[in-house]
Amino acid sequence: MSELLDRCPACRARLAEAAVCLRCGCDFSLVRQAMAQAARLLEQALCSLAIGDRAAARRQVENSLALHRQRLAQAIRNFLDAAADTESTASEHAQLPGLLAADLPAESDPTSTREEDACLPA
Ligand SMILES: [Zn+2]
Repeated sequence: MSELLDRCPACRARLAEAAVCLRCGCDFSLVRQAMAQAARLLEQALCSLAIGDRAAARRQVENSLALHRQRLAQAIRNFLDAAADTESTASEHAQLPGLLAADLPAESDPTSTREEDACLPA
C-alpha cells in the first residue's frame, strides 16, 4: 500500500481528502486517524532525537510504526539501532542509513532497462 492514502485500496478510486470512498463506500476515517497519529508520533520522535532523548525517540518511533509503517519511521528506527550499536564511538557525522538509497530509483545500466521494457505487456 502506498504511504499516502490517495486511492481506495479496495477499488482504486481516487480519494483525495475524502475519508469515505465515493465509488464503493469503504470508510477510511479510522485509517486516516491512525496515519495522522503516526505522523504526530514521528514528529515527536524527531523532537526527542533533536534534544538527545533517544529512549523517548525510540518509543515514539515504535508507536508510530505500529500505527502506520512509513519508510521514514523505519529509517529513523534503523538509525537509532545503528546509533545504539556505536554508542561508545558515536560520531557527529551519523547519517540515516538507507534513507536516500531507498527513496531514489536505482541507477541501472541501459541493458537492464531494455530488458525490463521487454517484459512490459504490449
Ligand atoms: Zn473504493
